[in-house]
Amino acid sequence: MRLDIVNNNIVLYIGGMYPKILFYDSVISHKPSSKLLFSEISPMWSERLNQARDNISPFASIRLKWYYELKESSKCVVGEAYGFSSSYVSKCKKCNQLGWKFMFYFLIQSNSRIEKTKHDFEDHWNKEHPETTTRNKNKMKAGADLDLQIQSYSV
Ligand SMILES: [Zn+2]
Repeated sequence: MRLDIVNNNIVLYIGGMYPKILFYDSVISHKPSSKLLFSEISPMWSERLNQARDNISPFASIRLKWYYELKESSKCVVGEAYGFSSSYVSKCKKCNQLGWKFMFYFLIQSNSRIEKTKHDFEDHWNKEHPETTTRNKNKMKAGADLDLQIQSYSV
């Protein structure tokens, strides 16, 4: 067995077999991918949707409350990902569409379709808007630091 690096690929030779390429173009140019999970993109809704799927009765009144929030573009699953903003409505057709899907599938209580929409949203977000999550996290952190400062001044 022999390992070799050819054109930025790690190539593994085992006996007389054909060389096996382990990492395509990954040695130098790429950093390891850190794909965002749905629970990181929209943590509050991720938790709510899990609760609705596992622990909340189909007739519970909280469902109606959440449904009304899903109808509002700044408060829905996609809005949360944008830092509770509706800025995406005119900017990204796909995000808009996914927002409506979450609302509709929540209304008809189709868990399988909600799960699929979560995956679609996760894929789309990682492809198109991952930096939005980083920006929101930094904003939240800055907000928390500010709170801390205000608290320590008021003592
Ligand atoms: Zn989008």
